[in-house]
Amino acid sequence: MVKGEQLYEGKAKKVFATEDPALLIVSYKDDATAFNGQKRGTIRGKGVINNQMSNALMRRLEEAGIPTHFVRELNERETLVKKVTIVPLEVIVRNRSAGSFARRYGVEEGIVFSSPTIEFSYKNDALEDPLINSYHAVALGLATEAEIETIKEYSFRINDLLKAFWAECGVTLVDFKLEFGRLADGTIVLADEISPDTCRLWDSETGEKLDKDRFRRDLGGVEEAYQEIMRRLRRQMTSEEK
Ligand code: ADP
Ligand code: UDP
Repeated sequence: MVKGEQLYEGKAKKVFATEDPALLIVSYKDDATAFNGQKRGTIRGKGVINNQMSNALMRRLEEAGIPTHFVRELNERETLVKKVTIVPLEVIVRNRSAGSFARRYGVEEGIVFSSPTIEFSYKNDALEDPLINSYHAVALGLATEAEIETIKEYSFRINDLLKAFWAECGVTLVDFKLEFGRLADGTIVLADEISPDTCRLWDSETGEKLDKDRFRRDLGGVEEAYQEIMRRLRRQMTSEEK
């Protein structure tokens, strides 16, 4: 697949056209940002890890019946995906309190919820991705009611699948962010990425953070945490093959 014109450069990835108008190439960078771009840095090797992790997880989700944009991994940093029109909602699923949830409601991090929660942010950098409810999303024409129902159903199924997988790796899936998009025929599919940039992943025994919070909160050992979480994913996948 020949890489065409660069269509977009985001904070963590570049997006390229291909000779097939229905397909794109995404290229993962080592650049890291937090707090809506105010904090910037580099996490060496992150692009490779996020690309490979996201692809491995999306492949599993596909096998379990969740449609995704994933087509084929091209190399360490680049993947061929189905082009979608992104639904401009960040879909956040939580199993425990952390981050903005803990801040907003004045609770400690790590409280285990009796059932998972879901929320949406309006994906809009100028507005700093404000929290939005599903009625407002429909009123703004961001998605239809039926699309939001589909997105919710997929998101909770994805949570069940990922939570179980990470538990096998000795990791607690605290929360994560998903993005969905529409194919040309309107089908909703999971897009973007699933990685330590977009998930909170804690060691099940020690509670050690193995995700982007190490960068956001200046905890040190950022590159090592990304390597450790990838090592666990690989070990689990290898043990399943045997
Ligand atoms: P940001 O735009 O937030 O800086 P990235 O650096 O990750 O984020 O850039 C990747 C962009 O590509 C995001 O805006 C994301 O919504 C978009 N995207 C992800 N998957 C697809 C896809 N399959 N088709 C079209 N756009 C996609
Ligand atoms: N998240 C993300 N992109 C964003 C905002 C959040 O990937 O723009 C992820 C984040 O990594 C965490 C989850 O969504 O796994 C919930 O984030 P939260 O709302 O707690 O935000 P934060 O603490 O980053 O303000």
